[in-house]
Amino acid sequence: MAKRIAVVVSQGQSAAPAKRQLEEDIVAALLMEPGIDVVVVPHLYDLKADGTGILALRGIMGNMIVLSWLYERGARWTLDRAGIRGKEGLTTIKAADDEDEEEENEDNEEQGVDDKERVNDSREIPNRKIYCLDLRVHSAAQPYIDEVKRIARENSMQLVSLGIGMELGGRPKTEQLARLAQPTNDTALPLHPHPSPLPKGEGAAALTRIDEELGRRWYPVIDYSRCTNCMECIDFCLFGVYGVDKVETILVEQPDNCRKGCPACSRVCPENAIIFPQHKTPTIAGASIVAESLKIDLSKLFGAPETGETAEQAAVRERDEQLVLAGREAVGASVGLPKRHEAKSAEPKDELDSLIDALDKF
Ligand code: SF4
Ligand code: SF4
Repeated sequence: MAKRIAVVVSQGQSAAPAKRQLEEDIVAALLMEPGIDVVVVPHLYDLKADGTGILALRGIMGNMIVLSWLYERGARWTLDRAGIRGKEGLTTIKAADDEDEEEENEDNEEQGVDDKERVNDSREIPNRKIYCLDLRVHSAAQPYIDEVKRIARENSMQLVSLGIGMELGGRPKTEQLARLAQPTNDTALPLHPHPSPLPKGEGAAALTRIDEELGRRWYPVIDYSRCTNCMECIDFCLFGVYGVDKVETILVEQPDNCRKGCPACSRVCPENAIIFPQHKTPTIAGASIVAESLKIDLSKLFGAPETGETAEQAAVRERDEQLVLAGREAVGASVGLPKRHEAKSAEPKDELDSLIDALDKF
């Protein structure tokens, strides 16, 4: 039995001709492929929580490939925020520093370095895979088309090997196999009913285009694989963006309260778990973090090199600027300033400088 896979193409915000061309080249090529359903949505980050784009994405039950103009990590946690969850699908389309992060994670696991409890450790993740591909890595469509075909093949192989397992292993574990065969986004937020399932045919791809009138948005997304639920962000933000759910887990409760262009809280999160996917600084926008294993001072990496400020200094200034713009009193460093960056201060500057250079180049 061939298994279909959904490919989501998230359009660029600016409709720049080169970007649109790349998106359309990919869509046109995938329409010729069997077993693929293509969904074109406006920019993922701008989708409204209850709009047709998000509803369509929530309606995708199985494995999903998402191509967007965002870092892989930024796209993944933007989807997560919208209730579109799944296990991380590995892709060969890698931005320059992604391999470093994988190596770093492996190193840390081997050395038992990271024993902190992360929010993700206790969350139920649906039994399906989401592959996020960054459209900024290649300027040509072919590498993306090849990668989608590779993942689609992997997707159908999963079922073939399941079939073999059933034959070799005697009695199958029926329930587990059924779940594997029909992966599902079964922890999607229950607030909104799923729209009709995407059209399914046996042959070439089905195409769904979502046209939604959207303005540009600005809000943080939380990487729960890093977040330790320490609540420093909720103490720091004075605009009511953060809240907690019924089991006291941090969440972005009022995203549109966030002040446009300000990334202050991402600079002070002790775990670098807060992402502003559209920020110009790669580490804040969700680029893989390569510094931690080197014990570099992350407060500098998350600071503002153009002004020479540390992360705390920049965060305090940015928050004050927003408070004044909103007609409120500046508070300086007197409210909600976390302590972690102070502890990690003096570290080798040559390593730090080369890291910042590498990220700038990237
Ligand atoms: S400051 Fe960072 S680690 Fe702490 S709760 Fe907020 S997002 Fe999570
Ligand atoms: S950037 Fe500023 S306004 Fe937005 S969530 Fe962070 S602290 Fe709050």
